[in-house]
Amino acid sequence: MSLQLSQKGKQIIINNGFWEVIHDLRKGGCICSIRIFNGSGKNILVSPIASYFSQYSEIDWVYPDFRDEKDRDAKAEILKKSSDRIDLQVKAKLIDINLGPLGIEVETIYEYHNAYIKVHRIFRCRKKIPDIINVVGIGSIETIPELDYWCARNSSRREINETAREYATFVHMPIARWGRVESSNYPSYIEFHPSHYLCVFNRGVEGIETFPNSNLKEWERGLVPDGDRCARFAIYKKFNPTRTVIICEPHFGLWVKPLKLKGEYRFTSYLGIPNVSPKGVNKKYMWINGVLRINKNRWASEDEIKEMAKSGVQIIIHHHDSPYGHGLWPDGSFFWPDGKYPPYEPVEMKNLERSIHLVHKYGMKIIPYFNPFELHPFAEVFKKNIYNWARMFGKKRKLFHNYTKGGEYGVAVCMQSGFADFLKSYIKKVITTLGFDGAYFDGISSAYCNNLRHADWEHTTVDGMIELVEYTRELVGKEGIIVTHQTASPYICVENLVDICVIMEDVSGYPSFQKGTPELDCFTPYCDFVNVAHKAICAYTALRPGCPEDEIKKMMVRCAVKGLSFYSNQHYPYWREISLRLAGRDMSEYKFEDYRKNLVVIDNPKVKGALYKSTDEIIVVLGNTESPKEEHFSWSIDLNKCGWKEAKINIVSDKQRTPQLEIYNNTINISDSLNGYEFKFYYLKKLHDKKLI
Ligand SMILES: [Zn+2]
Repeated sequence: MSLQLSQKGKQIIINNGFWEVIHDLRKGGCICSIRIFNGSGKNILVSPIASYFSQYSEIDWVYPDFRDEKDRDAKAEILKKSSDRIDLQVKAKLIDINLGPLGIEVETIYEYHNAYIKVHRIFRCRKKIPDIINVVGIGSIETIPELDYWCARNSSRREINETAREYATFVHMPIARWGRVESSNYPSYIEFHPSHYLCVFNRGVEGIETFPNSNLKEWERGLVPDGDRCARFAIYKKFNPTRTVIICEPHFGLWVKPLKLKGEYRFTSYLGIPNVSPKGVNKKYMWINGVLRINKNRWASEDEIKEMAKSGVQIIIHHHDSPYGHGLWPDGSFFWPDGKYPPYEPVEMKNLERSIHLVHKYGMKIIPYFNPFELHPFAEVFKKNIYNWARMFGKKRKLFHNYTKGGEYGVAVCMQSGFADFLKSYIKKVITTLGFDGAYFDGISSAYCNNLRHADWEHTTVDGMIELVEYTRELVGKEGIIVTHQTASPYICVENLVDICVIMEDVSGYPSFQKGTPELDCFTPYCDFVNVAHKAICAYTALRPGCPEDEIKKMMVRCAVKGLSFYSNQHYPYWREISLRLAGRDMSEYKFEDYRKNLVVIDNPKVKGALYKSTDEIIVVLGNTESPKEEHFSWSIDLNKCGWKEAKINIVSDKQRTPQLEIYNNTINISDSLNGYEFKFYYLKKLHDKKLI
């Protein structure tokens, strides 16, 4: 993955091996084309990503509309160029095709990283601007209609005003909202303050995201310095041509006096485009477990660690931030307080070192838990820094303690403060001193903060969060492991940097409030999203102790046909039955095709089939996802459709050792049955010439 730059006439082309972005100097230097090679391969834009200063009128049919994309003679300069960073500066005028230039020039610096593009726009008034402008759009996006799902997070402003006492609003971290882009003149999503996040995507194929940087002052007060005004951040379906539109308008003042524009206006935002691999989601790492046996008051034994490795577990997360205790470890006596080093007394440090050694001995990776939004009072740096680093919200400048049984997780801190540098050096120290293989991050999510020691106005934590993940990838290298918990807050740019995203912790929490396993087609669209990072679901909330066993089995069989792994130590005996069946393989060599692709055709709708395919092996996953009773069915597969030419193959199921079926033609049809919520794996192996002799 490295950034390449080329120029063709008036077009500047940037390519990172996964996508190609084209700027056109005849269209204001705006981004006019984005092609994701292993997505649809088509240009997903139907018009340039533009900025505009306009006068919307309810009466006039044609109204002044000054846009950078209308400048046919933009200037460009490369300010920086390396394999992991290209800074492209573009200068253009805002022009209305009938009225000519407005007298505002826009200088845009596109800061290309491999995982995201940070876009800095500066608008400079070069002369007296007439008082006519009432709508300002910054980097609005129009895509092809195939991007028909959306995800967005509300503005901080709305969350502050919410009264529902649930975690998301309590700490002002708006939770992601998801939906279909509807064929309606009504917006699919709309917010009248700058949203934390906006994304449209073609489920499991490709997508695009944009969101403002941490500097909320630019977005909330830049154009009207002395008071609140209306913005419009929205997702619409629009027509002629049919398209999906993300609107980013920091000013939408149809019913107020026009803007008085003078001097300079700055807006910084992000663009995220998925780095989709030829095989789609890389499933090299899927299975995650832990080494602490909290309920049994001990660390895992060597035999248990060996067993995990044999069963296909690849990553151990040492997640131990809760002071909630058990038995020999009563409340508050044994946990890893966020930011403390060393985290434990010498005897437990020895146990930790031993566990790291054993995990490595059996070929697995081990990563510690880090929290980018809380710091525990036991950390040495706490006392001196907490008021400087605390994330504050509300009028009272008080610390927000996240109390729990046995103590607390810590105090809310802000990634736009000195805490960010502390956390980076802490991560480096923990990983390099103890020999961990990477990092697990809880909640990589932007949140609101009004601690004015961090900025001169209210801000969000997003810049620090994205820099943190980028820093960690550089620290641990390509072979290192990064897992992030993203339930509340998806980011394409984070997926581009990590191995696994943990999602779906909210099955029975806000805002679903449902019990049990979701219907097969009702798992969040986040499971597919933009086809980059593997998803491990953290849906233990649906399977609290005491839930009927059928609910657990239902969850597992549905995960199996969706290619999801399940992140919960307590349900290991159940998901182990899936990991075991994929153990010993390099799953990065396989492309997963889920049950909706219909590559496995089944004559009973209660049974679903998915597959993993490589050059030499197809693994068919069959699941009775819908019925508590035994279901009879036959399944078939057309090997041509799977990209296999005629070959001699062996078929064996996970229930049978011998005999293996040898099949020569390309269509396979097998009768079988599955008990309630049971799954079964078949392995189709190509026999090479040597074996034929
Ligand atoms: Zn802050």
